[in-house]
Amino acid sequence: MEKDIKKIIINKATDMGAAKIGFGNLNGYLPEELSHLNTGISIAIRLSDQIINDIKDKPTFTYFHHYRTVNFLIDQITLQITTILQNRGYLAMAVPASQTVKTSKDAYRGIFQHRTAATLSGLGWIGKNACLVTEEFGPRVRLGTVLTNLPVDYDTPITESKCGKCNICVSNCPALALKGNKWYPGIPRDELVDAYACSTFMNEHYKGIGRGSVCGLCISKCPKGIKVLKINKAAKQPY
Ligand code: SF4
Ligand code: SF4
Repeated sequence: MEKDIKKIIINKATDMGAAKIGFGNLNGYLPEELSHLNTGISIAIRLSDQIINDIKDKPTFTYFHHYRTVNFLIDQITLQITTILQNRGYLAMAVPASQTVKTSKDAYRGIFQHRTAATLSGLGWIGKNACLVTEEFGPRVRLGTVLTNLPVDYDTPITESKCGKCNICVSNCPALALKGNKWYPGIPRDELVDAYACSTFMNEHYKGIGRGSVCGLCISKCPKGIKVLKINKAAKQPY
């Protein structure tokens, strides 16, 4: 039964445009009020290479539109997954694709970190840019998460960074917000990125482009995404 649901969810998400999907065990990572929803379904939508390539030294208007359009798609996919689960008697909730919930402790966090669900579901590791980095597309993805009490076979979590000695995102961050530390599971976010510095820089410099809420430089410069492009291009050479 659970195997069928898993297949139905994978097919639905893939049909709707998800490039990757995984199932992770979130036990021990959830806030108390959500701890009964300990299965995380993580999806990744691939971003447009053309649009990311065009981010040279600042974000573009098109990137801002793309960012919001992809977020909308993510919310549609995670809502569909939620419906599939609920119709079969499980509890499920989609974590909003892009939403921060201001608390007295943190102004830059959502109700649950998509990145945590993604690493636990085997989708990739967290780069020095504090974004999820996948083998296939580098950091050129955006993430969605469904929390559910569906019992399921979990995917193998990713627990190691593959950034190695690379520091390209760190040296290209105009806000000097990236710390250059290598990710490991459980590392405090502040050891990877100064979220305040990132957000303040975007607000001060990119207000006219995307209302100061997007940048994208640490995504566009990452060689893990560019490497994929080179492979794709090579594969398409005429013979
Ligand atoms: S989004 Fe821009 S400002 Fe923020 S960490 Fe990345 S490169 Fe730096
Ligand atoms: S640019 Fe280099 S250090 Fe930064 S996320 Fe990509 S591989 Fe990791």
